[in-house]
Amino acid sequence: MRRDVSDVAPTGAYYLLNITEIRVKLVHGTSDKLCGFASITLEGAIVIRDIKIICGEGGMFVAMPSRKLCDRCPRCSGKNHVRSRYCGDCGSRLARDRAHQDDRARPRLYADIAHPINQSSRKYFERAILDAYEEELKASKTEGYVATEFDDMDYHAWSASMAD
Ligand SMILES: [Zn+2]
Repeated sequence: MRRDVSDVAPTGAYYLLNITEIRVKLVHGTSDKLCGFASITLEGAIVIRDIKIICGEGGMFVAMPSRKLCDRCPRCSGKNHVRSRYCGDCGSRLARDRAHQDDRARPRLYADIAHPINQSSRKYFERAILDAYEEELKASKTEGYVATEFDDMDYHAWSASMAD
């Protein structure tokens, strides 16, 4: 389902990017509380994909696309995730707890690739995406529902692996 959400943009003293399209793909039966993927189009011009919709115990939230933070092995300069205990290239043991900490003293393991930069735009994005999710969920329970098409290899690969 493609949804035009240009009418949900709040009218305020500041300008927020217009979300012109949201696509949601529902996900069922994963252990990590992932309940859907979303992609959003901004101003009819830029798409952000790979947004995860998480149904956590404290409620639903949105996780922006992120990449794993890596560093270099001191021995061979191979690239490893900061949480890796051994180098994937040379097998050397790597220092523990070498990830940088965020301002709440938690290790930084991922970095968002694209994200809202303030609280009001975060709320606006999250609300629009969660509303689209609820709508997709409702639609999925109606007869003749056709799941959203994502012209994206990753999703196909992901769906295939989930079918095992
Ligand atoms: Zn190495």
